[in-house]
Amino acid sequence: MSSTDTLTADESADIRARLDEVAERTAAAAQASGRDADAVQILLATKTQPAEKIRVALEHGFGLIGENKVQELVAKADDLADLPHESHLIGPLQKNKVNHTLRHAQCIQSIDSLDLATKIDNRLGVIDGTVDVFVQVNTSREDSKSGVAPEDAEALVTAVRALQRLRLRGLMTIGLPGQTPEEIRPSYSDLRELSARLIDSGALPETATELSMGMSNDFDLAIAEGATMVRIGSSVFGARPTA
Ligand SMILES: *Cc1c(COP(=O)(O)O)cnc(C)c1O
Repeated sequence: MSSTDTLTADESADIRARLDEVAERTAAAAQASGRDADAVQILLATKTQPAEKIRVALEHGFGLIGENKVQELVAKADDLADLPHESHLIGPLQKNKVNHTLRHAQCIQSIDSLDLATKIDNRLGVIDGTVDVFVQVNTSREDSKSGVAPEDAEALVTAVRALQRLRLRGLMTIGLPGQTPEEIRPSYSDLRELSARLIDSGALPETATELSMGMSNDFDLAIAEGATMVRIGSSVFGARPTA
């Protein structure tokens, strides 16, 4: 479907119902882990989804969205410009796309090298801006995944903090895809423990204690492990069209 198609009333109602369900589960999981019901933010992962579906969510009071590809971030920005929201980039960022990203994203969650962070900081110097960032950590220990290795996270965090135009908010991970809690949980507990260690050592200041982790299939687990932001796609918008 293209972004100019309109949804049926049923499709829109379905998205709203799923949003309400995710919000209820998020609040319940936060409370179960001893936190306030509103302690965990819900970011809607909108990759491959048409702007019309995203509009339904924004109009329903969900104002935080994340795109994986700069191209999609740019393509949907105009369609959504009339609805207040915050856009994050949650996928890998190539250095030649930094300018476009900074035009449309308020936060970049995929900082995994000093090279990239420096390029962003330099560009912000030119346009006199700032941007929020998360350092992405590869907790899955797979070479194929993006993110800084856990043992290199402290050095990167420290270097990123030295860049004046980047506002570090915390750590992000995608984690190991898995079916059972035993498979999934270690990635999330690793990120929580890493964050705690870096807070202890002073590498992470009080302003950078967020943990972005958890997706449709495992967000309750991620919240139990301390997530402060979960990234939800398919359980709200339905399965993504396969490429
Ligand atoms: C797609 C995606 C999500 C959401 O995944 P779902 O399983 O659809 O909820 C979260 N984070 C990132 C980085 C993603 O690419």
